[in-house]
Amino acid sequence: MKNLLVVGALLLSAAPAVAQKSAQPPKSVRLYVFDCGTIKGLDPAAFHFKKEELAGVDFVVPCYLVAHPKGTLMWDVGVIPDSAFKPDGAPVTERVSTVTKPLLPQLAAVGYTPADITYFALSHYHSDHTANANAFAGSTWLVHQAERDFMFAEKPAGIIQPANYNALKNSKTTILKEDDYDVFGDGTVIIKYTPGHTPGHQVLFLKLAKTGPVLVAGDLYHYPEERNSDKTPTFEFNHDQSLASRAMIEDFLKKSKAQLWIEHDLATFNKLKKAPAFYE
Ligand SMILES: [Zn+2]
Repeated sequence: MKNLLVVGALLLSAAPAVAQKSAQPPKSVRLYVFDCGTIKGLDPAAFHFKKEELAGVDFVVPCYLVAHPKGTLMWDVGVIPDSAFKPDGAPVTERVSTVTKPLLPQLAAVGYTPADITYFALSHYHSDHTANANAFAGSTWLVHQAERDFMFAEKPAGIIQPANYNALKNSKTTILKEDDYDVFGDGTVIIKYTPGHTPGHQVLFLKLAKTGPVLVAGDLYHYPEERNSDKTPTFEFNHDQSLASRAMIEDFLKKSKAQLWIEHDLATFNKLKKAPAFYE
């Protein structure tokens, strides 16, 4: 018993040395990009493409954290939940998806736990974006009514994993009614309503002091080759609505001069700084 207490005391005294200090609010907006996995073996026909028409068929799955002087926003949370990892930490593969790093340790490495996350938002409800949603049920969820209604329909259907996001049902929730939602009220972090891929699909516009404007585009596009085409996936919720949202965003990109980051695009992702590095 005494030995156990000594071991316990050692562990406790060792803990502060290894634990990351909680991050202080930054002076200006920061964006962290996390590696939340890959999706391989997709059928290009599901996107109305032939393999040879695409530079690459595989997807990457990023997760994002925005740290603002007045709070934090977590945006998209992966394809396989951290709970699927075994204690050995080996990569986890589920069907076409593979994740090599769980999300929460990546967050902790930059000084954040889910309890530090003020706002939580998903580009949309597809299962490759919602894996760790339950971990953020204590944050304020920013969502459009139509998206939430679909997620909690009596018989939910589609590319969804309700078990991974069900805890959001009881989250403090802000239903977004405007086409543009200014998260922190100063124009630096704006959620833009871009329905079509799903009923309440949304994208994230950031005004970063050094980097300039960036649009984190969710699944408005999956491949760069979809731009300047009228191709949307076979599983699109509303094709015409998607084309209208894309036209609106292309116009916005011209006016704002924002960089477009297609979330699943490997070529975009490979060039990005990954956490613990950040954009500011
Ligand atoms: Zn996706």
